[in-house]
Amino acid sequence: LGNRLQDILERLKRESKLTEAQVKAAMREIRMALLEADVNFTVARDFVARVSEKAVGAEVLGSLTAGQQVVKVVHDELIETLGGKATQPTLKNEGNIIFMVGLQGAGKTTSTGKLAKYYKDKGRRVLLIAADTQRPAARDQLRVLGAQVGVPVLEVANNETPAQTAERLREHQRGDFRDLVIVDTAGRLQIDETLMDALADLKTALQPTETLLVVDAMTGQEALNVARTFDERVSLSGLIITKMDGDARGGAALSARFVTGKPIYFAGTSEKLTGLEPFYPDRVAGRILGMGDVLGLIERAQQADLAQMDMKKAGEFDLEDLLNQLRQIRKMGPLGDLIKLIPGMSRALPEGFNVDEHQIQKIDALISSMTLKERRNPTILNASRRKRIAAGSGSSVQEVNRLIKMHEQMKGMMKMLQGMQGGLGGKGGKM
Ligand code: GDP
Ligand code: MG
Repeated sequence: LGNRLQDILERLKRESKLTEAQVKAAMREIRMALLEADVNFTVARDFVARVSEKAVGAEVLGSLTAGQQVVKVVHDELIETLGGKATQPTLKNEGNIIFMVGLQGAGKTTSTGKLAKYYKDKGRRVLLIAADTQRPAARDQLRVLGAQVGVPVLEVANNETPAQTAERLREHQRGDFRDLVIVDTAGRLQIDETLMDALADLKTALQPTETLLVVDAMTGQEALNVARTFDERVSLSGLIITKMDGDARGGAALSARFVTGKPIYFAGTSEKLTGLEPFYPDRVAGRILGMGDVLGLIERAQQADLAQMDMKKAGEFDLEDLLNQLRQIRKMGPLGDLIKLIPGMSRALPEGFNVDEHQIQKIDALISSMTLKERRNPTILNASRRKRIAAGSGSSVQEVNRLIKMHEQMKGMMKMLQGMQGGLGGKGGKM
């Protein structure tokens, strides 16, 4: 998809204002990109109609091509639609109750545990309520999470009425006061009336200050319906999108946000308790468009303590740096995940080059067979040196050539990344 979008955008001729024909051609591709990212089709249609209106007649900025200008308009509008900036629920000093709702398997219980940790780390006194009485294991799951985080868990008994649950909460608060209560509720595989009635009753009894819908990023087309129904029945105040660490491009987030108009507060990024991040509309907008999550990549690289040094000197990026980076990257987790985050990476890699552990070891072996002088200055790698390196690392000269070519392409890409990093305005606002 990335290719097709880019191709058509490159074909758009340079003019001072975007013409209707240009916008129309580009919008067909944008609509496809949205659908491929699993944005609900009615949302995609409305979005494209809205953005087309804005785009026609827009000035083409001096530094951009017409195609880039269209992408900029679309990207900006997408960020706006996703909420603009990262935001968080506003908590009071006390009396906060977060009510978690969503379909079964969406990640409610996991997210409840993550929120408990997130807020406990911020100094909150958290209490969890295990209100999922549908599945016996659900309460066990939350009890385990509570113990891991170090917060108490109040378990709702089978056949307990919502009023009784509310009374038990009041009782608990008299003995062990907590300023934030998070309620994990039951879900069904599909929306059903009984579930909705039970949720509505519990909500009325507990009077939560926030009602958050947990949406699995992989929900696809259904995300629209799910979000709309929950909002109609239990009136949502915000959203959490889980499993953003997977392949899903995030279309579900756009659909859910579009239909409810409610802020997306958090993104789930792993199964672990630490896998909760603020939701950054700019990053997800890029991901939905297939532009790559540039900012996410940079932040992850920083986490692995690559520091910014390698990004800073893209122009001087040599083979020794490449070797160091590969070794760092191997410590960072599954390579496939990281590679996907790099814009255009799949195209920059040579034909047939699979990024797997074996290939990385191969590159490591190749570079290790070079002298430091060669690593620092790959231009001196003439035929006889390449032959020696191939022999030394048990490879073919062809593989040495391929590595050198790959390094050249990476260098070019890093320069591009640097340009984009500046252009996207740095890191999103952390709270
Ligand atoms: P619930 O039925 O809504 O309570 O869903 P659970 O919290 O039990 O989660 C269902 C599954 O999704 C579990 O296997 C979780 O580990 C997994 N899960 C939840 N959130 C995430 C996430 O952000 N990333 C990943 N990779 N897995 C998640
Ligand atoms: Mg659960």
